[in-house]
Amino acid sequence: MKQTLSRKFTFVVVLTVLIAVGFVSLISSFFIHDRFKDYIIEKQTQTINQIVAQVSLQYDANNQAWDTDNVHEIGMVALSSGYIIQVYNQDSMPVWDAEAYDMSACVQVINDISHRMLSQFPNQSGSFISSDYLLEYKENEIGKVTIQYFGPYFYQLDDLNFINQLQSLLWIVALVSILLSIFVGIFFSKSLSKPILKTINATREIVKGKYGSEIQDKTNISELSELIDSINYLSTSLSEQDRIKRQITSDVAHELRTPLSTLMINIEAVRDGIVELDSNRLKSLHDEVIRLTNIVKDLEQLTQIENIDSKLAYTHFNLKELLQECITSLEHKQKEKLINTKLNSIDIEIDGDRNKLFQVFYNLILNAYVYSSQKSSLSIDMMKDSKNITIQLKDTGYGIPTESLPYIFERFYRVDSSRTRNSGGSGIGLTIVKRIVEAHKGEIHVESTIDLGTTFTLILPIQQSS
Ligand code: ADP
Repeated sequence: MKQTLSRKFTFVVVLTVLIAVGFVSLISSFFIHDRFKDYIIEKQTQTINQIVAQVSLQYDANNQAWDTDNVHEIGMVALSSGYIIQVYNQDSMPVWDAEAYDMSACVQVINDISHRMLSQFPNQSGSFISSDYLLEYKENEIGKVTIQYFGPYFYQLDDLNFINQLQSLLWIVALVSILLSIFVGIFFSKSLSKPILKTINATREIVKGKYGSEIQDKTNISELSELIDSINYLSTSLSEQDRIKRQITSDVAHELRTPLSTLMINIEAVRDGIVELDSNRLKSLHDEVIRLTNIVKDLEQLTQIENIDSKLAYTHFNLKELLQECITSLEHKQKEKLINTKLNSIDIEIDGDRNKLFQVFYNLILNAYVYSSQKSSLSIDMMKDSKNITIQLKDTGYGIPTESLPYIFERFYRVDSSRTRNSGGSGIGLTIVKRIVEAHKGEIHVESTIDLGTTFTLILPIQQSS
């Protein structure tokens, strides 16, 4: 059966506290009883020694007689403390006998203590025992005292009260701890489950296709906070993907509609004899077909880069030469805008798919030319460390708005569709660039300031580890 997180969490906290409290109570109760028992036994021995010493002092050696009044006093005090004594002289004749003096009081003491001990500690067997102690005066035997008490030990009423109070205190502590743990468990489980429930609701909304809504709740639990951030990111990125998807559909339709309708109008005009099919008209029809073909090629290219990793043909080649070739093949574009292009390259050989990397730099340099005004500049710099080569392409062109930067590597994403459509771009150049670079286990980053220019930084491993 499935349980809610908050119920489970509360249950675990309460169970843990219950086990801990139970364990601590058991141990402390055992130790309290054990230590207290030792203390009581010691106290009992002291009391017995005191009785023996006090009784011995009541012997008058000169007259060889006992002070029976004082012995009586001692006997009565002992009786009130649970000790029944009988004092005998050296001829074993009784001097004072508690039972003889007051039998009913003795029976009362025996009953009270036996009942108290056996009802409180039924597992402990105990009974009234009697022991004899020698009475001495200056190391001479002057008699003996027989002491009866509940053995091996017994608790006075005060002792028992103290033990019971301690026990109740333990129970109160245990109860308060359990109540506190329930409260803490419920409180923490709520603070844990609340953001999770919000996250679940947000993901449900995403599943329904309602992208873009953000979870506003903040939590100081780092894993949950990361989860919320991820869901928020997922939500905004799905919303952007959705926007791009719609854009793609309308862009593809738009891109196809213009050449198709031009073709249709012209072909119908020729069929109806309104215009003649001369070489100019044929050329314009042919241009439209080429436009259509290019759009289809772009779409094809997009599907091709899906599984690019397995399609790379690695060779070892000179990167500087490759960059030089790219620049040369785009010379006509560079000359159109008189863009000052500088290649500050070191001679370096790297492992990679030469044709695919050619496509990467071709796209980046072409973009730098297309998205720059007349007489701006492009510089290409290289740095190398033991493992990687870093290539920086820095132009002083139009720049990219900050809000567009996270999306420019998305397929069909164009910063300003009207401007880029004039440039002939379809928004897949950078998607292809990124896929190829990543397939080479490299990275690509972009920094840009509007009207100041754009810098693309590529980090490529010099050697490809298989
Ligand atoms: P496109 O075919 O439209 O050029 P890309 O994927 O190559 O598509 O580029 C995506 C968008 O990024 C472009 O539409 C353009 O707005 C922007 N862009 C790319 N490179 C640059 C650059 N060097 N300077 C300014 N904007 C750029």
